[in-house]
Amino acid sequence: MRSYTQFYIDGRWTSPVTPKTAEVINPATEEVSGEISLGSPADVDLAVAAARRAFATYGESSVKDRLDLLEAIQAEYERREAELGEAIMVEMGAPKGLANGFHTLLGKGHLGTAIEVLKEFKFEEQRGVTLIRKEPIGVCGLITPWNWPMNQTCVKIFPALAAGCTMILKPPQLAPYSAQILAEILDKAGVPAGVFNMIQGQGSVIGAALSRHEDVDMISFTGSEPVGVQIQKDAADTVKRVGLELGGKSAWIVLDDASLAANVAGATAGMMGNSGQTCSAGSRLLVPASRLDDVKRAAAEAASGVTVGDPQSDVAMGPVVSKSQYNIIQQYIEKGLEEGAELIAGGLGRPEGLDKGWYVKPTVFVGTNDMVIAREEIFGPVLVVIPYDDIDDAVRIANDSNFGLGGYVSGEDLDTCRAVSRRMRTGAIWVNGGFDFHAPFGGYKRSGNGREWGEFGFHEYLEVKSVIGWGAA
Ligand code: NDP
Repeated sequence: MRSYTQFYIDGRWTSPVTPKTAEVINPATEEVSGEISLGSPADVDLAVAAARRAFATYGESSVKDRLDLLEAIQAEYERREAELGEAIMVEMGAPKGLANGFHTLLGKGHLGTAIEVLKEFKFEEQRGVTLIRKEPIGVCGLITPWNWPMNQTCVKIFPALAAGCTMILKPPQLAPYSAQILAEILDKAGVPAGVFNMIQGQGSVIGAALSRHEDVDMISFTGSEPVGVQIQKDAADTVKRVGLELGGKSAWIVLDDASLAANVAGATAGMMGNSGQTCSAGSRLLVPASRLDDVKRAAAEAASGVTVGDPQSDVAMGPVVSKSQYNIIQQYIEKGLEEGAELIAGGLGRPEGLDKGWYVKPTVFVGTNDMVIAREEIFGPVLVVIPYDDIDDAVRIANDSNFGLGGYVSGEDLDTCRAVSRRMRTGAIWVNGGFDFHAPFGGYKRSGNGREWGEFGFHEYLEVKSVIGWGAA
């Protein structure tokens, strides 16, 4: 049993002002795996005051000092990577290969990228008589979800540290362990007191207190659309900056010239990765209507080949994160059936032989873009295949969504893929795959605002100051 009942405030492990604990459930076993403390606004006040004090010096620290700090964190992160992977497996159910692979690698990647960017970043440039200075925005509240715990925290913490900001992290209640280990890593690496603080607890309490706080300069939030809306409202009275990374219902367009077998199989299995709990998952697979029968066969075969089971074993998919997430997904599958979508793989209930744990069957429907299952983010392993008539129709369907986070185009002819990518109203598009830590990531429409990852992630944490007359002769 893990017991993480202290917060990290002002460079020390600190007991909550008012003691209160909550159990953490392992989604693979439905059993209690440990406990955390739930903080109160009084803890937030202490952490914000510490971050404000620390900002006076850290906000003016040199790039060299910040690089040294990030490199010390990098060494410590690498030393404890396996513990992070283990924690992610227990807290949110990622299979061990994924937890110890892509999950921890994403955190390490954002750290390495922040170091690379910081080495080259221009905090000052002169244009005519004006000096343009990029200065740290100040005290930041970082509120993160459970689905990719290291990705979501590291993509915020390291650019914020590189920019010279101080911060308070509010990790998700469902996945609190890896954040606790990350706080230990930062402590061990020698982050100055007050620069990084962490309080566990309920979003509606800790997240809201941060969003409303007079002395917090910006909030960076990743999570659901309704909570993002609430945070903007809470932050409005203090006119703080709010960066939002919200949900998605991303389209994967398989063009007519693409190899169907490979692309449909890849898109189907890829969507099921992390149990479908990826904001940029290609959850709408758009395919040529003329080839629908072949697509159905390929998608059904790929879905049935996705192994589901105990995250400790060598499977492709573990459980979803919680009972409530499981129930929501079941309701969406029911809705799809009610709406008349054609079920070609998976369906209601747990996979055979898995009676305990929040396991969902890898599910594929063929449907239309007006169905609820094609419009709302399910955040589970449920793919909707949607046939299109021609490229214009494919682009129209892809863009007919309230969201605009990710997008995918597969095809042999690169020029056609590129032309389609230009027409898609979404923040990130993968053309025949690929991966880039420097590519900005964020949403159009209700998928949010702002951009994280790489150099663009730095700007979230910077103010721009013009000093006019600086260059006067
Ligand atoms: P939530 O929005 O429910 O929670 C995210 C975080 O916000 C949690 O730490 C939560 O705390 C906290 N929170 C809850 N209520 C408030 C509040 N009133 N004020 C401030 N903070 C609050 O999302 P989930 O954790 O359920 O994550 C899933 C959602 O996140 C999906 O919709 C997904 O698409 C989206 N997402 C988007 C990503 C992107 O990059 N665009 C990436 C990953 C996920 P608590 O722990 O108490 O719930």
